[in-house]
Amino acid sequence: MNNVWLFWGAMALLALCIAAGVWVVRNRPAFLRYVEESLYGVTWQWRWSGKRIVGLWCYCPTCKGELSFDDENCKTTKNLNERTTFFICKGCGGEEKGRVVGGDRRYVMTLVQHELMRRASSAEFLATLNPKGDA
Ligand SMILES: [Zn+2]
Repeated sequence: MNNVWLFWGAMALLALCIAAGVWVVRNRPAFLRYVEESLYGVTWQWRWSGKRIVGLWCYCPTCKGELSFDDENCKTTKNLNERTTFFICKGCGGEEKGRVVGGDRRYVMTLVQHELMRRASSAEFLATLNPKGDA
């Protein structure tokens, strides 16, 4: 074996790996591009682990900073209509960026996740997504 053959062998292997990589990227499911949504007046971002949503959190539509929840009122009332979770942005001076009526932060996270999963499983909806570069 001389070095020239070794070189071309390595190059062929490299080309094969690149082709396989491109194929995987082009054929990955459309929902993997769906990682951001506006719901209840704020921006939600997450990642996909298989077909599960992980790392879901809400961000300020104005300054892009992480929001915090204020659901203190949920502890003092049993009336669902009075239970409200507010999205508060510290970066914007504690301003309210949105709200969900009906429950506390756990309720909100479940509600948002269900809505995102519903959209992510709709082919019509995914077709409207903006392809990010590789589609
Ligand atoms: Zn903000």
